[in-house]
Amino acid sequence: MKRADVVVIGSGPGGSITAALLAEAGRQVILIEEGRPVNPELLRYSYGVGEMRELYRNGGLTPCLGATPIAYVEGRCVGGGSEINSGLYHRTPDDVLEQWRVDQGVLDVSALPDFFAQCERDIHVASHPGPQALASVKLAEGAAAIGATVTDVPLWAKFETGTDGIVRVDKQSMAKTYLPRMIQAGGEIVSGTRVKQLRRMGGKWVVRSVQDRRSLDIECDKVVVCAGAFQTPTLLLRSGVARNIGRSLQLHPMIKVFAQFDTVVNQNWREIGSHQVTNVGEGVTLGCSVGSRPYLAVGLLNYPELVNETATLAPFLGAYYACISPEGHGRVRALPGCDAPVVSYALTPRDVDRLADGLVSLCDVLFAAGATRIFPSVAGSPIITDGESIQQSAARVRAGFAELTAVHAMASCPMGERIETSAVDSFGRVHGVDNLYISDGSILCSSVGVNPQGSIMALAYRNAIQLLGESR
Ligand SMILES: Cc1cc2nc3c(=O)[nH]c(=O)nc-3n(C[C@H](O)[C@H](O)[C@H](O)COP(=O)(O)OP(=O)(O)OC[C@H]3O[C@@H](n4cnc5c(N)ncnc54)[C@H](O)[C@@H]3O)c2cc1C
Repeated sequence: MKRADVVVIGSGPGGSITAALLAEAGRQVILIEEGRPVNPELLRYSYGVGEMRELYRNGGLTPCLGATPIAYVEGRCVGGGSEINSGLYHRTPDDVLEQWRVDQGVLDVSALPDFFAQCERDIHVASHPGPQALASVKLAEGAAAIGATVTDVPLWAKFETGTDGIVRVDKQSMAKTYLPRMIQAGGEIVSGTRVKQLRRMGGKWVVRSVQDRRSLDIECDKVVVCAGAFQTPTLLLRSGVARNIGRSLQLHPMIKVFAQFDTVVNQNWREIGSHQVTNVGEGVTLGCSVGSRPYLAVGLLNYPELVNETATLAPFLGAYYACISPEGHGRVRALPGCDAPVVSYALTPRDVDRLADGLVSLCDVLFAAGATRIFPSVAGSPIITDGESIQQSAARVRAGFAELTAVHAMASCPMGERIETSAVDSFGRVHGVDNLYISDGSILCSSVGVNPQGSIMALAYRNAIQLLGESR
């Protein structure tokens, strides 16, 4: 049987940082990843079907059951979500950290700024030098016109301005930062391999996986599970670890719209603007989304009368979202005989109201920026052209017809010192189970209300340092 000191499961931000720091400290590390390395050829086709199939789980559309269903998106490739995401960076807001300290007794939250700063250096967090994507500039102009707060969110990226004046954004994903460091330090990545179960045998862990339909077992002293907020609880439940696992999932559900302008706003389809708008309702954030042609075609499915116009309209359409930090929770269940988890989510009536209000605010901002028509992802909604159609569309949202999506998942195995409500301690150690750790989006105590990768990285960094401080 293959052997390692530590097996890390999942190569997203949580797993890559963990594996790199442990390998650099001299541990023999094997990182197991279900997905394959990213083929850069795929990325040339702007979020096309090939990219979705190869780099996303279930082609990017996994259903989450509930009164208003939510389609959630997960990366499945070497580097995890960091390879496919927008690169918008936030630290965990102070009030959220304080709430985690009070509610779950999370220790030493005041030390986190050092870890944020270290990760920011490692992945080159910096502001976009401009000029920004035109659709994003429109959002910022509209927000300023109605007095909302606009933030130019920094990215983990290197920037290069071409002779055409367009800024090329080279996102510093895990495959460009921590994973090469891990390999350099002697760590091994085993990709295309899905971990099925963890077994405790003779004081060691045996990680049972499947690679190309063949079994692969690896024996190790410690396991760090970093498979993301859906797959981590699924694997643990399948392995008989169940205390506070999978019961408190939180997502940031969002409504998307396409807004039509009289001028061109959509030139470079891989470009996503980094402006975000807040202060338009409690827990509501507005921002820009992917506006590539395949996305556009899907986004306009509610308006079949436009099917022949899509190509002509495309340069004039900007893609936007209104996203909330919800009260409601979801649940991840592992059913016998079913490899995929069953995920359900219960939005509260207040969450649904806030989504409807978020849509109204987004339309107000976009009309203030000069939009002429807005196409929301709300079944049965009219095309929005004025105040009356905004209200009709919001009423459809309140009635459960919003076609919600989510790309941020967290809190399915929350950390804390309160053993009755948390799954792991403040440093990712699974309560009551020796040498088993979680270090990914699952351990956040609740919705962070901002893009979560910055929070996940800082916590993974601090957990890895803590693990290294333990006796071997
Ligand atoms: C389209 C999109 C846009 C986003 N934009 C932003 C953004 O701008 N800013 C931001 O902060 N966040 C963004 N996010 C969210 C961010 O990408 C995630 O929060 C982050 O990647 C989660 O990190 P993680 O380590 O918890 O898990 P993941 O990144 O999900 O990594 C988990 C990895 O584990 C692997 N895995 C799962 N199960 C197994 C198994 N059983 N065996 C082996 N391997 C397994 C998966 O294939 C995956 O690669 C976005 C996400 C998406 C999908």
